[in-house]
Amino acid sequence: MKKILIGTHNKGKFKEIAHLISKKYKKISPIVLKIKSPRETGKTFISNSKLKAEFFSRFVNFPVISDDSGLCIKALNNKPGIYSARLAKKHGSFFKAMKFILKKMEKEKNRKATFVCSLSYRKNKKIVSVQGKLNGRISKKIIGKKGFGYDPIFIPLNENITFGQMLKSKKIKMDHRFIAFQKLKKKIKTL
Ligand code: IMP
Repeated sequence: MKKILIGTHNKGKFKEIAHLISKKYKKISPIVLKIKSPRETGKTFISNSKLKAEFFSRFVNFPVISDDSGLCIKALNNKPGIYSARLAKKHGSFFKAMKFILKKMEKEKNRKATFVCSLSYRKNKKIVSVQGKLNGRISKKIIGKKGFGYDPIFIPLNENITFGQMLKSKKIKMDHRFIAFQKLKKKIKTL
C-alpha cells in the first residue's frame, strides 16, 4: 500500500486531511514516527506549509502533505492569522484564546473573519502548494463542543451555527482545508 505522511501534530487537522486523501494511501502521523514539528519561521501560510513539508520529508522516503492554517479576523488586522496556534499556547488553551478574542471584539460591529489553509505536497524533491479560504463571521459567544481549535467561534458564510455546532461530516466538506485540498487534487491527481 502507498504511504503518505500527514505532517501535523494537531489531531483535528490530521483527521480532516486523512479523510480527504484517497483510501489507497496509508496515512502516517509524525507522532507515530516520533518526529517533532519544525519551528514556524515563515511569514505566510504558504511559506510555513512549505517549510513543514520540506522538514518532514527529511525523515521519510514517501510523499508528505502538510498544512498551515489559521483564523484571520478583519477587525483585528487579520490576526491571529499565522499566529493562531501560538495565541492559544500563549493563553494556555483554545478556550482562553477564544475568550480573549471575544472580549477584544465585545463592541465590534465588523465580525468578518476568514479561515485560511495552505497545503503543501512534496514528492521526489518537488513541492506543490495551494491555499484555500472560507469566509464567515465571529460569533458573540463560544458555542458548540464539536470540532477543534477556533471552531466554536466561527460561523461560516450562509450558515447560522458555528463550526463547533456543525456535524464533522458537514464541516469537512466545506471548510478551508477542503477548499485547499480540491485545488491540490487538480494538480496531484493520485491524491
Ligand atoms: P498551525 O497551522 O499549526 O500554525 O495551527 C493553526 C491553528 O489554527 C491551530 O491552532 C488550529 O487549531 C487553528 N485552526 C486551523 N484550522 C482550523 C479549523 O478548521 N478549525 C478550528 N481551528 C483551526
